[in-house]
Amino acid sequence: MVASRNAFPQRRRVLVTGGAGFIGSHLCERLLETGCELLCVDNFFTGTRRNIEHLLDDPRFEILRHDITFPLYVEVDEIYNLACPASPIHYQWDPVQTTKTSVLGAINMLGLAKRLRGKILQASTSEVYGDPEVHPQQESYWGHVNPIGPRSCYDEGKRCAETLFFDYGRQHNLKIKVLRIFNTYGPRMQPNDGRVVSNFIVQALNNQPITIYGDGLQTRSFCFVDDLVSGMIGLMNSPDGITGPINCGNPNEFTIRDLAEKVIAMTGSRSRIVHRPLPQDDPRQRRPDTSQAEELLNWRPKVMLTEGLQRTIAYFEKSHSKERSLVRE
Ligand code: NAD
Ligand code: UDP
Ligand code: UDP
Repeated sequence: MVASRNAFPQRRRVLVTGGAGFIGSHLCERLLETGCELLCVDNFFTGTRRNIEHLLDDPRFEILRHDITFPLYVEVDEIYNLACPASPIHYQWDPVQTTKTSVLGAINMLGLAKRLRGKILQASTSEVYGDPEVHPQQESYWGHVNPIGPRSCYDEGKRCAETLFFDYGRQHNLKIKVLRIFNTYGPRMQPNDGRVVSNFIVQALNNQPITIYGDGLQTRSFCFVDDLVSGMIGLMNSPDGITGPINCGNPNEFTIRDLAEKVIAMTGSRSRIVHRPLPQDDPRQRRPDTSQAEELLNWRPKVMLTEGLQRTIAYFEKSHSKERSLVRE
């Protein structure tokens, strides 16, 4: 019973799995501001202690190293299930473990929520739409996913997790919430996790070639992490009848080439653009239809790409110079 300390018996107890990761650490921070008691569970596969070290002195914050593919017995009121590597190079590094994390992790967290009669939210993904043939993507679209390709461990794992959430909801009358997250960026992305925003910023700051995969005409719609976290908490706090799945992302769509040029301009970099092969099954286009989030959650993104990139570039500049000064010492 890890989170059953009695010092704050009246407080809401919240579990965040994957809380030491990029989005999870921002979520932990924001939830602590609401006055709850927080248990962060992470196996540190792609997350780091550094992401949450500023929270460690807070007596309402607790961290537990644990892999959610194994059962977890704690006492909480709400669960945000974020544990899962999210960038292609990380989720393809051990694909079997990726599927296990989504599927066995969902079963364990749903079993936990069922025993506690608590509310549970799943961090799902726009990848459930695969390489979409419908544009923009509405929640009613069933998707176009290759079930046996290199991305399937992530896509199909997340699709199966959604199935489990809805079956636990129907079969055990569980309070479930499913959020389909579109490409999210911001401070605390790992510099080496291969995602396009962090890659381009790190390359630009180092005046190294900017690597565009394919012709760069594929599109993505980038959501700043603060907006995403607001949508996630908004869904958790919405009436029980609102289960989702609900898209959460910024509907402004850019080509990858647009993004490269914007990052070069904003950093004043001397980097040139180079092209690399397009990875297999890379989606050609992606943009969320966010009308459900607007209508049901009164949510809309506030931070546009230029401002979000400024804040993200500032973070990488700071952590980059810190690393350089550490090297010099
Ligand atoms: P991240 O890799 O930074 O965070 C994932 C966290 O989960 C890490 O801290 C990692 O150590 C932890 N983790 C992985 N496997 C685990 C396991 N078996 N047990 C316990 N902890 C484990 O990624 P992120 O971008 O913060 O993504 C968080 C969630 O949001 C993921 O579920 C991801 O699928 C989803 N999501 C993210 C994006 C995005 O653009 N960032 C888009 C769609 C969905
Ligand atoms: N489980 C858990 N913590 C709990 C309760 C359950 O980790 O507090 C896990 C346990 O491993 C179990 C799974 O969740 O196998 C699914 O639980 P459920 O009650 O749905 O099924 P069962 O116990 O019958 O397998
Ligand atoms: N991408 C790119 N250069 C990079 C990293 C990614 O051109 O250095 C492309 C990638 O092929 C994809 C898009 O940018 O078309 C977004 O990639 P990311 O891995 O960030 O997210 P996802 O493909 O999961 O949406």
